[in-house]
Amino acid sequence: MAHPATYKALVESKSDRPHPLPPSKDMTQTLARAEAICRAHGVRLTRIRRTVLQALCSSPKPLGAYELADMLASNARRMAPITVYRALDFLIEQGLAHRLASRNAYISTVDSDSGRDAVAYLICESCGSVSEGSSAALTGALSDILLRAGFEPRSKVLEVAGHCAACQGHSQERH
Ligand SMILES: [Zn+2]
Repeated sequence: MAHPATYKALVESKSDRPHPLPPSKDMTQTLARAEAICRAHGVRLTRIRRTVLQALCSSPKPLGAYELADMLASNARRMAPITVYRALDFLIEQGLAHRLASRNAYISTVDSDSGRDAVAYLICESCGSVSEGSSAALTGALSDILLRAGFEPRSKVLEVAGHCAACQGHSQERH
């Protein structure tokens, strides 16, 4: 159901272009924002939760729970995977992280500029990179579908698997 005006907006708006996920450019600012969100929700960003969030924010790729446990082990004593899972559950509940179902891996959403809009995560099956993109048209279309179904979404996230622009280039070179 193509709508010309909407399609035009989608193509022309620069900010709608998918862009790579963090690593967070300014970790202090990112963590301050996370603290503020937790305060507003009346919950605490404990040291462990903060450490897990920081690891997610500094990774250019989604991380699995065991990967996180390994990463955090090198700094101090090993963090038990159950502790990591609990921290991740908390971060997801507060809207600070998202679990990519198709990869069973986690990403930070603190720096996500989409707020409560629908987000499409573009997941490269070659290099594992993830980009996120959003647009008013996508949000509108999804809201439409949800409204018609009377469905209350927990998140408005779409996962699209495939190959990023860089990896398509590599595979062409090989041929
Ligand atoms: Zn790629």
